[in-house]
Amino acid sequence: MFLTIKSVDIEHLRRFLKTFGTFALVTHVHPDGDAIGALQGFAAFLRALGRRVFTIVPNAYPDFLSFLDSSGEEKIIIYKYKQKWCKQALTEAQVIVCLDMNALTRMDALGDFISTLPQPKVVIDHHPEPVTKDFNLVFSEPEMSSCCELVYRIICELNMVIPFPQVAVEPLYVGVMTDTNNFFNMVSAGTFEVAADLLRMGARKEELQQYVFSAFSEERMRLMGHAIFNNMVLVKQYRTAYIVLSLAEQQQYCFRPGDSEGFVNIPMNIKDVDVSMLFVETPDYIRVSLRSRNGVDVNEMAGRFFNGGGHIQAAGGKLYCPFPELPNLIMQALEKTFGPIIVTN
Ligand code: 5GP
Ligand code: MN
Repeated sequence: MFLTIKSVDIEHLRRFLKTFGTFALVTHVHPDGDAIGALQGFAAFLRALGRRVFTIVPNAYPDFLSFLDSSGEEKIIIYKYKQKWCKQALTEAQVIVCLDMNALTRMDALGDFISTLPQPKVVIDHHPEPVTKDFNLVFSEPEMSSCCELVYRIICELNMVIPFPQVAVEPLYVGVMTDTNNFFNMVSAGTFEVAADLLRMGARKEELQQYVFSAFSEERMRLMGHAIFNNMVLVKQYRTAYIVLSLAEQQQYCFRPGDSEGFVNIPMNIKDVDVSMLFVETPDYIRVSLRSRNGVDVNEMAGRFFNGGGHIQAAGGKLYCPFPELPNLIMQALEKTFGPIIVTN
């Protein structure tokens, strides 16, 4: 693997760690396993160095990740519900570390607040095209499977006096495991090396798989069946499958945050599908998730049509249209991406 972590950047980060005592760690909206894993993994490392750490997320994260959360003072705090507390903590912090995101806008209102703060901001991320002006120190490795893989490598490169903290092991493993969809996508030899190191340090592979991939409710399983059986549309001409999920349908199946996680991967199991799209209605907007293979760039599609971004093979965004307009919008996006459908007799 070609790594571009520069020793001058590592030295810069080492200087921050030696100079400052209080850090705030933040990550993107709708935090996933990689986001929470990186937050908790890096926080554990900083705490092992004796630093005070606040961990803050913009909004709620799925229940199945709560086993990674600490308790008491070290709990992950949700900005949406505790703005005053978070603003105080962020103001107190001497350095702000942004994980698994390439721009402050990925944190919505939390990002707006952070952009007003004068403290140095470090970003550790694996998305392409970081908005470098948002940050003072940038670690950006788009070839990496996950932010957690990068955090692991940075901690190793820093080579501080302490041993690798045990409490950082499982959060980092969970991030690598989830962002690769259980080592299915975006895995390099380097990813397996990091996973192997973490396993050797005691990551409980089976238990973690079970907590993350096999801890859903019965309703979530039935919602998934409903979404695939009744709502999946195959647009064969574009080798695309899409699923829409309305708020009413979610309510019918007692939807909880994170319940639609993974749905977008399922149509990728169809032989002739290269692009899968998932549209989940929320009270404020429609959440978009995209997956692809065989060279289709969904990062570009997300930017062009869905107010978002991500990676070439996994991206997401938001739509602010009435829910019933979705099929038309999706077809327009596909036509603009792949050209008009040619009907042959
Ligand atoms: P997911 O479909 O799992 O929610 O997200 C897949 C990828 O797309 C992730 O890497 C995530 O960071 C990125 N992504 C999801 N939603 C957005 C968005 O609204 N804006 C941008 N820029 N990236 C997104
Ligand atoms: Mn990630």
